[in-house]
Amino acid sequence: MGDGPVDRRRRVPRTDALLADPVLAAATATLGRDQVKAVITRAQDRARRGELNPDEVRDAAVAALPTPGPRVVFNATGVVLHTNLGRAPLSSTAVAAVVAAAGHTDVELDLATGRRARRGRGALDALAAAVPDAGAVHVVNNGAAALVLAATALAAGREIVVSRGELVEIGDGFRLPDLLESTGARLREVGTTNRTSLADYAAALGPQTGFVLKVHPSNFRVTGFTSATDVRELATLGVPVVADIGSGLLGADPLLPDEPDAASTLRAGAALVTASGDKLLGGPQAGLLLGDVEVIDRLRRHPLARALRVDKLTLAALAATLHQPDTPTRAALHADPGVLRERVERLRDRLGADGRKAEVVPAVAVVGGGGAPGVELDSWALSLPERYATPLRTGHPPVLGRVVRGRLLLDLRCVPADADEAVRAAVLRVPGDD
Ligand SMILES: *Cc1c(COP(=O)(O)O)cnc(C)c1O
Repeated sequence: MGDGPVDRRRRVPRTDALLADPVLAAATATLGRDQVKAVITRAQDRARRGELNPDEVRDAAVAALPTPGPRVVFNATGVVLHTNLGRAPLSSTAVAAVVAAAGHTDVELDLATGRRARRGRGALDALAAAVPDAGAVHVVNNGAAALVLAATALAAGREIVVSRGELVEIGDGFRLPDLLESTGARLREVGTTNRTSLADYAAALGPQTGFVLKVHPSNFRVTGFTSATDVRELATLGVPVVADIGSGLLGADPLLPDEPDAASTLRAGAALVTASGDKLLGGPQAGLLLGDVEVIDRLRRHPLARALRVDKLTLAALAATLHQPDTPTRAALHADPGVLRERVERLRDRLGADGRKAEVVPAVAVVGGGGAPGVELDSWALSLPERYATPLRTGHPPVLGRVVRGRLLLDLRCVPADADEAVRAAVLRVPGDD
């Protein structure tokens, strides 16, 4: 291959070929053809001037696309709910609902009467129907907001009785005790890190008690000489029990036997359950509140409720997720290891045909994102030399794996099956010398 200016010019990819690239073609839908063409022309000009190799034009054009929002990535980390990757991906039904709701909607209007109606009743009715044990339900921005609303409306200026073993940090330096105290409620800590008995709670109750709080330690486990008091026992104390179950499981899941669910927790006697919408439920970021009618009414009418109210897009995604709960999160959790292995083997074979040496190795996936900390999910991964990690992470689209002992593992559990080809193409774009 010649290296002179004429040869180089001849090797610059043509505009129509570049416009056929899947990433550039997809970009024309959001940015418009003219803007994408302008980006392509600039990359071609750089190659003609000798600033780029001709085979780098495509990547340079993709890298130069304006990115108005967060970038779509492939999660091959084996962490099902990865907080840094936006936790739960929405189902296609939920995505369609979000797109449909982006225009004018009847979010707060009853079309039959022409009068104002309860905001987001479609999502609220679906949540209530999914958990018949709840007398009433409400939805706010996220799990933290649900707790803030509960603490403010039910315990501001009073005490929240909580075990020392449950004063958890939920991530990025945010700690539940700080969050609760920011509402003006006082924490009355009882018991010890590893053991808290019913008597510890009982001794702390008094006229100042707003409620007893039970927090599910969703991102760590304490093992050994431990003892906790469950909601059923706490409900005998004669004060309201608020249970932060974290993960948003609405009913029990046999795969996750230690994970509390909303229905069982309400049946055990909790007056209020709080949870996230974008963890195990697999829906949009939201804070779910389920509980006694009077409690939910107090929360809904509190002035703070207006500041925590959810967007119509969230309500649309939540309603769709509740109506059709076969989410990508559920699919990833329940994926058959045998099927995953076949996918990884096929990927290895096809990469091998292109001269890339990859191995198929067993892997362990986890729930992540504040859910089921002890649970290990048998999985399979494509193992590549570690040098692939950075170019794949910074590529277009980015593919995120996990580096373990000098190898990059790509676990396909959380990669949609129809994206295996995109992962293969991404690996092939990394210059290969192995
Ligand atoms: C995740 C979690 C929270 C915070 O919920 P967000 O939806 O992230 O605000 C609070 N408590 C527990 C137990 C959690 O697992």
